[in-house]
Amino acid sequence: LLELKNINKSYKVNEKQTFQALKDINVSFEKGELVSIIGESGSGKSTMMNLIGGLDSKFDGELLVAGKNIGGFSEKQLDAYRKDKIGFVFQSCNLISHLSILENVTIALTLSNVGKEERTLRAKQALAQVGLEKHIHKKPNQLSGGQRQRVAIARALINEPEIILADEPTGALDSETTEQVLNIIKEIASKGKLVINRRD
Ligand code: ADP
Ligand code: MG
Repeated sequence: LLELKNINKSYKVNEKQTFQALKDINVSFEKGELVSIIGESGSGKSTMMNLIGGLDSKFDGELLVAGKNIGGFSEKQLDAYRKDKIGFVFQSCNLISHLSILENVTIALTLSNVGKEERTLRAKQALAQVGLEKHIHKKPNQLSGGQRQRVAIARALINEPEIILADEPTGALDSETTEQVLNIIKEIASKGKLVINRRD
């Protein structure tokens, strides 16, 4: 599903200097895999996630998604790639505090061509998949940390992406809650998605 071939990434520091953050990365991932990118701070984890997520397309080498090199995509193609193929889950959840859980998930579909009823139906299904069907009318601050993280997962699932990119999804959770969230992530991967997880 995803193949990184001879990926090199340098950042421009100033007019004279560049900094090489990724050097000759070769790795491939399949559907159904749950993988973690682990390494010390500054080792290039965020850089690699940004390339895979189509947030940064300035790199050398090939990043093939189902055989297509996203390095050659236009801005418009990258927008479509991020919207259709990738689900993003952040540690901070990024939920909107004055909206209900249901609205927080539904809003992820507002930019796509899906009607209101269908959006609500799909949001309810995604929330049921993470075990939150009884909480959909609550606001984010009425949930526990693990429940909020599950809302963020439901929101990432609603577009039915092939790849889920999770940036330390359990970084702010206690060990019991971490296990619950990891079990949900494992189940999602086992249903045929590729889940890539960043951990420090
Ligand atoms: P990690 O996520 O593993 O902590 P990053 O991918 O954030 O690592 O960073 C990898 C390296 O690239 C670090 O040494 C960092 O200082 C450098 N770096 C990241 N972003 C920039 C940038 N915009 N300009 C210059 N150097 C950068
Ligand atoms: Mg980082």
